[in-house]
Amino acid sequence: MTKQNIEHLKQLLSTPKDIVIVSHKNPDGDAIGSSLGLYHFLKKYNHKVTVIMPNDYPDFLKWMPDETVILKHDSQTKESNAIIQKAEIIFTLDFNALNRSGNMETVLGESNGLKIMIDHHQKPDGYATYTFSDVNMSSTCEMVYDFIDLLGELKNINSNIATCLYTGIMTDTGSFRFPSTTSKTHQVIAHLIEKGANNAQIHNNIYDTNSYERLQLLGCALNNLKVIPESRTAYIVLSQEELNKYNYKKGDTEGVVNYGLSLNNVVLSAIFIEDKQEGIVKISLRSKGAFSVNEFSRAHFNGGGHTNAAGGKSDLSLSDTIEKFISILPKYNKALNNE
Ligand code: 5GP
Ligand code: MN
Repeated sequence: MTKQNIEHLKQLLSTPKDIVIVSHKNPDGDAIGSSLGLYHFLKKYNHKVTVIMPNDYPDFLKWMPDETVILKHDSQTKESNAIIQKAEIIFTLDFNALNRSGNMETVLGESNGLKIMIDHHQKPDGYATYTFSDVNMSSTCEMVYDFIDLLGELKNINSNIATCLYTGIMTDTGSFRFPSTTSKTHQVIAHLIEKGANNAQIHNNIYDTNSYERLQLLGCALNNLKVIPESRTAYIVLSQEELNKYNYKKGDTEGVVNYGLSLNNVVLSAIFIEDKQEGIVKISLRSKGAFSVNEFSRAHFNGGGHTNAAGGKSDLSLSDTIEKFISILPKYNKALNNE
């Protein structure tokens, strides 16, 4: 983002505009946090702002300030499309390719609204007029903070903005422990607490609202955990039947993949979750060190993400997907054992 770009954006935002903010399918804490953080910021300047997500998200994100204003494109398609079609500015947050927005891809691609991408995923597509992309950033929320800084508006961060941005930085950094967490991330967090983010309450809202069934499902997942020592890999499989047994709800498996990585000597962890309704297996991958699950997922599972955290999907059956995964791994044994 050049100085000239920022000056142009300042100019653009100096009069009220019709603005839409969108994020990726299956939104997480960073997607909702960055979108609502930016929403609260822009609302202060009398813009008309609409936040639209491709689909629903877990209950543990449904306490964030003004969360209820969010439109869900899959159940509010007509209304969402009409708003996107007449938007003057469209912020696309926490994703780097329009197909990550699910069924919004076409309407976003066709809209004449000026597009501004703020994102930290690798290899951004070129669809936006302004691309604010930095793969070294902890989170899109930290980038929205920097964006507000570049506009010279840090002084105007209020407690709603601070709460939303804190949440996404916290969830995307695994509570400030992933390598993407820098001293500057902590400085941003400190400032957000000063501006009114209630850190203890936010942690509680996100992490301490488990249902009994969710913990039972975690128990089932840990029971299913398998290790392939020669590939320093751990993986978990959850079938649709198991999910049904524990009354699975969106978000119930969030973070489960990290348990594999907590094993001594494991550098690659995967979870395979059967989704019979969509006819796919959803895959989450995590790694330690230089082994890139982003590359791995792009090469084999139609996905992407970051070096150490990526996702993807498979159209094969659950057992065929696992078979594929296990058959690919030996090719990577050398890289995995160099970690
Ligand atoms: P998670 O495993 O938590 O769903 O996602 C980890 C990271 O990978 C996130 O940054 C997410 O945006 C990205 N990701 C997850 N699923 C996909 C996918 O299907 N395609 C791509 N390109 N990225 C994904
Ligand atoms: Mn993110």
